[in-house]
Amino acid sequence: MHSLDRFAQDKLDELKRRNLHRSLTDTLREDGIWVERGGRRLLSFSCNDYLNLTQHPAIKQAAIAAIEEYGAGSGASRLVTGNHPLYAHLEARLAQFKRAEAACVFGSGYLANTGIIPVLIGEDGLVLLDELSHACIYAGAQLSRGRMMTFRHNDVNHARELLAAHRAEHDRALIVTDGIFSMDGDLAPLADLLALANEHDAWLMSDDAHGIGVVGGGRGSSFVGNAHMPVPLQMGTLSKATGSYGGYLCASAPVIELMRNRARTLIYSTGLPPASVAAAIAALDLIEREPGYAALPVQKAKAFTRRAGLPEAQSPIVPIVIGDEEAALAASQFLESEGYLVVAIRPPTVPAGTARLRLTFTAQHPDDDIGRLADIVRDKIVA
Ligand SMILES: *Cc1c(COP(=O)(O)O)cnc(C)c1O
Repeated sequence: MHSLDRFAQDKLDELKRRNLHRSLTDTLREDGIWVERGGRRLLSFSCNDYLNLTQHPAIKQAAIAAIEEYGAGSGASRLVTGNHPLYAHLEARLAQFKRAEAACVFGSGYLANTGIIPVLIGEDGLVLLDELSHACIYAGAQLSRGRMMTFRHNDVNHARELLAAHRAEHDRALIVTDGIFSMDGDLAPLADLLALANEHDAWLMSDDAHGIGVVGGGRGSSFVGNAHMPVPLQMGTLSKATGSYGGYLCASAPVIELMRNRARTLIYSTGLPPASVAAAIAALDLIEREPGYAALPVQKAKAFTRRAGLPEAQSPIVPIVIGDEEAALAASQFLESEGYLVVAIRPPTVPAGTARLRLTFTAQHPDDDIGRLADIVRDKIVA
């Protein structure tokens, strides 16, 4: 065997032995919540399509109209000829929605984080991350070549100790956290982190991938509890509740202009297809018009946790930590036999020893299925 294939096969064998092997499964998403896999129809509790907008007729229509008007692709980087007129519209909408001066749209959330952080932090800088931050935040911090430190999950005092000890050694410091944690569903203490950042002349960035469209009246994690926390760097994705694709940063006008000049993932990557941008605009319109609809995923998650006897959900994401990888896979298979798709999440997506079921609730999940699933989880999985 060629050494390349030998290498790949050895790695794969090792992953299989540790129950960490992953594979792609053809999944047909027929509407907002039902999927078809292997010829079976399952009710999905594993999509991040919190408002079921990927299948919304008005949003699909906006995408189709954009293809007809502007074409299937954008043809070049935004800085060359790929900046079709829909971008300016979307960026103005995002900035207004997040109460920021300006916004910049990237190719994806992953590209946003890996582009933004290296613009702000260089070799002499410090990036302080919540330990449970999303993988692409870690990737962005590594690309910055600055010093990366992590603080214990949601532990503002630990972050304070690290800043007190190390801030002075660095020219600039950035604190980054998920606004809503992608695999745990809890909220970051943004108000306290913002105060801490200001004490130490550090900059705070929140990743609102799971916040926009579902908390804070749809405006995201900086708007929870009717407050508005002026987080200076609000990053997020357009691919979850917004039902489309793309990433963004909302910030001050100079910060956004700097991104357009320096963010390598923006400069050296082709602009988004017009359809994605048009769909995101239509989705933001809908979210802003219907805050009651945007509140449904969290309400459904809370109804589930109440009935299943779990800690109250704070977002549409509910983790059920099992621990062992094989047991988590078995629990997922058991729920599939009951007609529910609940994908098991394993390391390295979550820390070792915390393999889990991760449930996501969407606006259109039927209440009786939520009740039935809660009963099964309470009696057969948590028990
Ligand atoms: C999904 C996710 C991303 C990546 O966004 P994409 O648009 O899917 O690339 C970034 N951060 C968090 C917290 C996420 O959950």
